[in-house]
Amino acid sequence: MRIVITEFMDGDAVAALARRFDVAYDRDLVDREADLRAQVADADALIVRNRTQVDAALLASAVNLRVVGRLGVGLDNIDTAACAARRIEVIPATGANALAVAEYVIAMAMVLLRGAYQSSADVAAGRWPRAALSGGREVCGKTIGLIGFGGIGRETARLARAVGMHAIGFDPQVAADSAVWTEHRTSPRSLAEVVAQCDVLSLHVPLTPDTRQLIDAARIATMRPDAVLINTSRGGVVDEAAVAAALVAGTLGGAALDVFEREPLASGSPLAGCPRLILTPHVGGVTRESNVRVSTMIADRVAAALTR
Ligand code: NAD
Repeated sequence: MRIVITEFMDGDAVAALARRFDVAYDRDLVDREADLRAQVADADALIVRNRTQVDAALLASAVNLRVVGRLGVGLDNIDTAACAARRIEVIPATGANALAVAEYVIAMAMVLLRGAYQSSADVAAGRWPRAALSGGREVCGKTIGLIGFGGIGRETARLARAVGMHAIGFDPQVAADSAVWTEHRTSPRSLAEVVAQCDVLSLHVPLTPDTRQLIDAARIATMRPDAVLINTSRGGVVDEAAVAAALVAGTLGGAALDVFEREPLASGSPLAGCPRLILTPHVGGVTRESNVRVSTMIADRVAAALTR
């Protein structure tokens, strides 16, 4: 049986698969469309990260495909309806990178609220912006608002509690009286309440028609003016132009964005040069440790699905 891996996967996990299957591993295959089509023609399984578009065209080339392993959790690059129609099993690495994302969120909350960690160039050059940087805030006692209370939202709540934050959350799929809220010591609220009441707003929803542009100019206007926004979910969930405008106008305390409507960012993005803004290239869930966990989980589950 043949497995095609189109993006980066941990070497030990690839080796474990290669001992049992015919494995074609090329971490750059995603960037060569014609090669990709040719490689999947006789593939029984396909393993991808978030850049490979498993759409109708690719699926049409993959006539023998039975399994798609996703080295991550968001499935917006996979046509899951088309896969279901052909009984192709789609396997995400649920839970395997939750800790990496949650740590990213707490780190960004600390950096943004404190506002003092980007003075290296000034200090090295002999300047001393101590007065300007002495108004930073602590995370302890602050409220974190979690939109989406699945695996990553819950892990973020756990870490937030550990540093003394209060957690509130909104998730239409988790009933207000569900034990999940009490287990994670998080108070369920409406979407409007979470947005308006938190000091740190963190997004943990999939990208769907319901969540597209969920955080737009109107919602940002209801946030506390010194609150900060952290988006590790998907770019389309946030209106990037509205975030940029609020940062420039001083009506948003800061933002950390790890995911974007278009990745890499298009030139001329309104986010370029904005104050109190941290931009990272979709690495919230990617650490050395999570890469091993994600790759091992997908290798095991794809192997099990192929041999079932
Ligand atoms: P999950 O499926 O466990 O949880 C998502 C939650 O969002 C669910 O509980 C669902 O009910 C809720 N939800 C759906 N629509 C909603 C809405 N309109 N309002 C509020 N809540 C809503 O997924 P997860 O593992 O927690 O991951 C969340 C998202 O994070 C993923 O879909 C993915 O896009 C993103 N992600 C990003 C990175 C990264 O590197 N930046 C890494 C992992 C995951």
